[in-house]
Amino acid sequence: MTNADIGLIGLGTMGAALAMNIADNGFDVAVWNRTTSVTREFANNAGDLSSKVHPTDTLQDLVASLSKPRAIILMVPAGDPVDQQIAALRPLLDDDDMIIDAGNANFHETNRRARDAGDLPFLGIGVSGGEEGARFGPSIMGGGKRAYWDRVSHILIAISAKYDDTPCATWMGNEGAGHFVKAVHNGIEYADMQMIAEAYGVMRDGMGMVPDAIGDTFSAWDNGTLDSYLTEISAKVAKATDPKTGQPMLDVIVDAAGQKGTGRWTVIEAQHLATPIPAIDAAVVARNLSSQLDKRAQGEALFGAAPLPITDISLDDLEGALIAGKIICYAQGFEMMRKASDQFGWTLPLPDIARVWREGCIIRSKMLNDMADALTNDADRNLMFAPFFAGLLRANHDALRRVVAAAAIGGVAMPALSSGLAYFDAMRTARGTANMIQGQRDFFGAHGFTRVDGGTGHHGPWGA
Ligand code: NDP
Repeated sequence: MTNADIGLIGLGTMGAALAMNIADNGFDVAVWNRTTSVTREFANNAGDLSSKVHPTDTLQDLVASLSKPRAIILMVPAGDPVDQQIAALRPLLDDDDMIIDAGNANFHETNRRARDAGDLPFLGIGVSGGEEGARFGPSIMGGGKRAYWDRVSHILIAISAKYDDTPCATWMGNEGAGHFVKAVHNGIEYADMQMIAEAYGVMRDGMGMVPDAIGDTFSAWDNGTLDSYLTEISAKVAKATDPKTGQPMLDVIVDAAGQKGTGRWTVIEAQHLATPIPAIDAAVVARNLSSQLDKRAQGEALFGAAPLPITDISLDDLEGALIAGKIICYAQGFEMMRKASDQFGWTLPLPDIARVWREGCIIRSKMLNDMADALTNDADRNLMFAPFFAGLLRANHDALRRVVAAAAIGGVAMPALSSGLAYFDAMRTARGTANMIQGQRDFFGAHGFTRVDGGTGHHGPWGA
């Protein structure tokens, strides 16, 4: 019987790639999949790594083929499948054996599972980077007791992406901290993608550019401040040709975006935490709206669609708008994590979070390195106020304003960039307009207000 270093359950897209990555890094990995033929096929296709991959047909075999104390990664769909696998595995394991849920669990469920586990070792880790990341180096956000992380971190660090030799795998905190950070990562990802899609919309509908030229523009931006995986793949998507029709790929893809829930969880949690993340919220709303194809067609028939030509902004303005929008949406995500850290008592390592996102994950970008530096200097400051990003915002917020204004006049929907601009303007207005809200609340509900010249619980002369 083998003495594999680690076990893995669930040989789907992510699990298969992760198992190969583990084997590739010199560890023996025992694997089990609900459908046995998938296990066999996986092992048969392991090629040069087949000596490191140990297929098993039953959970008992899987457990028996692991060295003690055992560690088993679950890479199955979030929700019931995770609970089912834990329930099936636990009776077969010793008290010091560890279960690691590496799927996209809701962090509340990870909190619950960690508490249910009691003294039985359990980790919830967020893994980002899609199939390629899982195979060649994902970004890994660990959650659970530090001692449990330390037991398996040599494997998780070995398989993670590296940024200038620094591993993109870090322990984030207890219980669901890792899955929470992964959810916020995905929320930021939604906003980043949405802002890029909005820039595409201006180029396509306002500026009349063809996909190939749009692709060239994204490529050019990828050589500057916007250098990132998402900018790079947007260029490739825009320049791709449909083998079936010979048309640009973008023109044959239905404009209804899918989602699996992590963006929604982030927005719901932000509301619970009372922390504003409007650009992320707008991005989730935009995906929901995108699925209303029939209703949008009805609206177009009723009001007419053809956006007006947008001639008074340049591609440089659009690039500047995206730079400003990107900083604003990341600032919101980090603000949310700071608030959650306080609320849940996690002490989330914000600079390290920026660091583990620099490689391996979907939002990896050049800017994240500067964010890591800014957060290292002052982890409590809104990223927008860090000198480097304040400079970028000073240089680019007018471009964002021009683009949002031109899009509004032209009739191009811009939910994420426009809400990002509103956040920026609100965050640089020392005296806003909530005094009117307080006056209204006191008028109808006697809720009281604080006076600028001192004292709380005042009431207005409304009845006079
Ligand atoms: P897939 O659908 O490709 O694979 C799912 C795997 O889980 C299969 O091996 C399947 O086995 C197994 N499975 C499904 N239901 C059960 C069950 N009830 N009990 C036991 N095994 C089950 O999913 P992915 O690999 O894409 O995703 C796995 C996890 O990783 C999810 O939580 C996902 O959100 C997360 N994730 C996915 C990413 C991606 O880009 N795809 C990125 C980051 C995280 P069988 O062969 O028998 O059907």
